[in-house]
Amino acid sequence: MATSTKLLGLLGDVLLPGETRSFAPPALDRAALQRLRLSDTHTITVVCITAWGELPSMVIARWGTVAEVLQIDEHNVTLRGLQRACIQTALGDVQPHAATIETEVTHPDNEDHASWIRGAHRVLAALDLGARPSHEGWQPGLRDSLAALLRSLSESSRQREWLDRPIPEGLEALAEAWSTALGVKEAECSLEGALRKVAEEPKLGKTDRRRLWSQLVGLQRRLDLFDPEFTDNDLEELSYLEKRLQQGGLPKEARSAAKRGLRMLRKMETSNHDYATMLGHLDFMARLPWHPDPGVEFDLAALRRELDAEHAGLQTIKQRILEYFAVRQLGGKAKGTVLCLAGPPGTGKTSLAVAIARALRKPLARVALGGVHDESELRGHRLSFVAAAPGRILRGIADVGSASCVMLLDEVDKVGTDRGRSPQAALLEVLDPQQNEHFRDNYLGVPFDLSDVLFICTANRTEDISGPLRDRLEILELEGYSTREKLAIASSHLVPRVAADCGLFVPPEIPASVLETIIEQYTREAGVRELTRKLGDVFRARALEQVTRGSKTASMAIDVGEVAARLGPARYRERPRVDGLPIGVATGLGVMGHGGARLFVEVGRLPGKGELRLTGRLGEIMRESARTVLGHLRLFAAAYGIEGDASPSNYDWHVHMPEAAIAKEGPSAGVALLAGMLSVSLGKALPASVGMTGEVSLMGDVLAVGGIRAKLLAAERAGLVRVLIPAENVADVPEGMAMEVIPVASVAEAARALGLSGDA
Ligand code: ADP
Repeated sequence: MATSTKLLGLLGDVLLPGETRSFAPPALDRAALQRLRLSDTHTITVVCITAWGELPSMVIARWGTVAEVLQIDEHNVTLRGLQRACIQTALGDVQPHAATIETEVTHPDNEDHASWIRGAHRVLAALDLGARPSHEGWQPGLRDSLAALLRSLSESSRQREWLDRPIPEGLEALAEAWSTALGVKEAECSLEGALRKVAEEPKLGKTDRRRLWSQLVGLQRRLDLFDPEFTDNDLEELSYLEKRLQQGGLPKEARSAAKRGLRMLRKMETSNHDYATMLGHLDFMARLPWHPDPGVEFDLAALRRELDAEHAGLQTIKQRILEYFAVRQLGGKAKGTVLCLAGPPGTGKTSLAVAIARALRKPLARVALGGVHDESELRGHRLSFVAAAPGRILRGIADVGSASCVMLLDEVDKVGTDRGRSPQAALLEVLDPQQNEHFRDNYLGVPFDLSDVLFICTANRTEDISGPLRDRLEILELEGYSTREKLAIASSHLVPRVAADCGLFVPPEIPASVLETIIEQYTREAGVRELTRKLGDVFRARALEQVTRGSKTASMAIDVGEVAARLGPARYRERPRVDGLPIGVATGLGVMGHGGARLFVEVGRLPGKGELRLTGRLGEIMRESARTVLGHLRLFAAAYGIEGDASPSNYDWHVHMPEAAIAKEGPSAGVALLAGMLSVSLGKALPASVGMTGEVSLMGDVLAVGGIRAKLLAAERAGLVRVLIPAENVADVPEGMAMEVIPVASVAEAARALGLSGDA
């Protein structure tokens, strides 16, 4: 039966059922400890994590231990492990998470489990005895080493695997380890026997103790748990390194390089600077996972489930992700293309990638490419370089410990292409299945096979991705959410998640109208990041109230008043300017890094000779577009009813686009530029509630532009009621838009729709 609980991560530590132990930071998140203390909880579930910030979803389907909170204060918490439990769901980014677990029914034939726990405790008790002076017979090193062994067994991922496996299997492995460690003969090779030997015969002779000690070290090595800190003997360290390299399954070229390195190290003085460099290099070599993991069968249904579980809406994107993987599975051409999720921040790119990795049961390595300007950041610095270090790609792989991971290459659009050694070439090589089998990192110095890594890229603006890179990518555009979509995401996902992060395990009720107020009046974004933050603000105030005044208010729904009290006056109450637009101002729509945006175009003129001045950080394409539009107006002035002295050639024109700090580029402001010029020429103001986008040709055709969905969402956010778009873009209009969309094929049609000219 599923039970609700609070879930706490223990960094690299495991609490076994039946064990009573205290935990303090750094094994425990200090803030989580405080939250736990305030929440007056009696039982929680703990799970071993390997890094802070390990997503709750990463612990799903893992085993943890239900524990009784015996005592808790500011500095530590004492827990008694009760029983194993499998984690079914876990929510929130902040500990303790809200989770549901399935506890294990203690089966009669689980007696084995109970017996090893009893045995383990007996050993621990014996070790404790050893701490007393009366048991000087115990070699302190042996005691420490046994304790460390137990601890390191707990810490290692191997131990976690043991706990995660069905008991008999895990037990067998453990029994074997113990019996080897304790020198039990084959005949006595039962766990109980092994444990008894230590627990009941603490006064071992010197020879026995020596043997035990060396076997323990041997065992630790075998289990990959040997901690060089236990010895200050450099030779030990080197032979341990050698062993790791031997066992690492290095391919031929790497193996010879490693051998050469070890030979050099053995000849060097340890104080030599190169010694540390070479040691680091070989250690990195030993850390790298040289072989792909055994394949897990790909399960399309699991992928669909993961995508649906974490994401509301996004049907087309999910469908395209499924199609991509189906084609890959069939071995189609998509095998060579790389998925790229493109869109403004907060639209779910990262969380889609996380869901994909989870469904494929592969670890996720994240490599941030934003602002990477030099190839060596991706490909590493040579050993001879003073600050030699591996590149981000291999570091990511070493960190997750798998050559079959999913690697998220974040912000491929922000990779520098400017100076000499641009990282582009390295990136292209990494993504090319023909070449990435032999990827060369300068630091590593030998080829590394990346062919089993699944790469997923993200980008904010597809326009900024360089051509050759774009050819490699299968781009899925997430252009942002409408208010209605944000509402659905908030009520199904964000509210429960953010509330749990704030310690409110029963999320406060928050009516749709209040959510809508937060979305429309307190945020202005294409994604839902700011919205998540605002919800956090509101819920934290609730949490404070609950802690100071008890849970009386907990059942009250959150209303607009409470939102305003917490978030202050509404920040965006943008409705069309009721007083209308000044003459010469048109409402354009553009796509910026953060999604669609409304951009005003201001046009002014003074008597002159038909010159054009452009300000507001306009890019070359936009400047050309402005010249084309003025050219069109000059050619066809009469058709718009502009004649005689009013002729555009008799004036100098000034076009400005406000928010001059932001660079603007692209041809899509053409219609707005023309509308501004017509407005000035005819002395008529444009309606404030109408937005427009479209490229204009010299002959006055309105040509298709990109980002229609993002622009329409921006228009919706800005409260526009009508939008002019190129007729060729009609197919891009998403369903269910609240405003009127008017397709226009020519500027004459646009002018008519804007009431600027009846006869053009
Ligand atoms: P990005 O990588 O695009 O900047 P993230 O993936 O980090 O955005 O998303 C920000 C937050 O919004 C995450 O907590 C994510 O789960 C949430 N989110 C975004 N889109 C959706 C959606 N469609 N359904 C549920 N949650 C979403």
